[in-house]
Amino acid sequence: MKVGILGGGQLGRMLLQAAANYVVETYVLEDDANCPAGHLCHHFVKGNIKDFDAVYNFGKQLAALTIEIESVNIEALEKLESEGVKIYPSPSAIKIIKNKIRQKDFYTQNAILTPDYVVTNSKHDLRHNESFLPAVHKIGEGGYDGKGVVVLKNESDIEKGFNAPAILEKMVAIKKEIAVIVAMNNKKETAVYPATEMVFDPYLNLLDYQVSPAELSKSILNKANKIALKLVTAFNSAGLFAIEMFVDENNKVLVNETAPRVHNSGHHTIEANYCSQYDMLWRIILDYPLGNTNAIMPSSIVNIIGAENQSGKAKYEGLNDVLKMKNTFVHLYGKEQTKPGRKMGHVTVMSKDRNELVEKAKEIKNKLKVIA
Ligand code: ADP
Repeated sequence: MKVGILGGGQLGRMLLQAAANYVVETYVLEDDANCPAGHLCHHFVKGNIKDFDAVYNFGKQLAALTIEIESVNIEALEKLESEGVKIYPSPSAIKIIKNKIRQKDFYTQNAILTPDYVVTNSKHDLRHNESFLPAVHKIGEGGYDGKGVVVLKNESDIEKGFNAPAILEKMVAIKKEIAVIVAMNNKKETAVYPATEMVFDPYLNLLDYQVSPAELSKSILNKANKIALKLVTAFNSAGLFAIEMFVDENNKVLVNETAPRVHNSGHHTIEANYCSQYDMLWRIILDYPLGNTNAIMPSSIVNIIGAENQSGKAKYEGLNDVLKMKNTFVHLYGKEQTKPGRKMGHVTVMSKDRNELVEKAKEIKNKLKVIA
């Protein structure tokens, strides 16, 4: 079966690693021939995933298509779908999720609890909503990994806001940030992964480390699972979805955002769960039974991120020390060049002892540096 991936970044790379266990002919569409997934697929096609012709011509030769990022050309996917190419997830789900305004409205329409918000179209609109501050301003389209999100504490911050369609979201008193990954196949059968707990670096606005399964009461975890399932059922699309949620100080569970694809919050599933999120997506695409989402052992993940003030050919300082650590798994994404804040890889740690998971995550963070 010929299956294409739109985007050739690290998620595409890990998806292709999992594909090696199946009989599947893989295609990748990506602008950059040196991308992390480029040399792992059977057929690399150079082209822009946002361009109609590039996506359409790429897709029309394939039985199925999936994405590793949502900033893709939807019109091309809709046309391909109408011509019989299977798209995971459906273009209608990607279309909703791709735009944060549409995404938030979808939550409201489907009675999914989400932080309060108003839609703004310009900085001028922000001035009319000063009473909404402190709030988080999120650009409707094009934001990624913390870019496209700014905190507006008071009216003196309004200049930092976006002069484009965006949502202004009430600041939530967050107790924990979690993510729940849900798989749904063509028969509408579902499988839910244990929640992951994320701890963010306030400086870079990128993931600092994460621990799975999340340490929360059974009742909160049940609530989160129910919401995640309800949401994926509402999207009514086969595929894999990561639902990012906030647990607030009153233990309310609010949906922050959804990713309609394999997700960073599921990297640990490669070693720490019976069926990884990547394997799961292949099972869905190839119409095989869903896999077992249970954790084999608790785990933590540290992202390997380009060090401050370091740009150029990447070198990994402290890699030998980390490779010597027990039950520790290093994944480098094969990116030749590093720059500050760039995601260069991740490390998964497994242990039954939660303290050890956090301690080792911190130790790795201190030991392993990406320099130029
Ligand atoms: P991105 O799409 O760039 O990942 P998010 O919407 O997930 O952006 O926001 C990034 C981070 O900003 C979140 O993980 C959270 O820590 C913080 N954040 C986002 N929205 C809120 C909110 N309403 N209240 C408090 N913190 C928020």
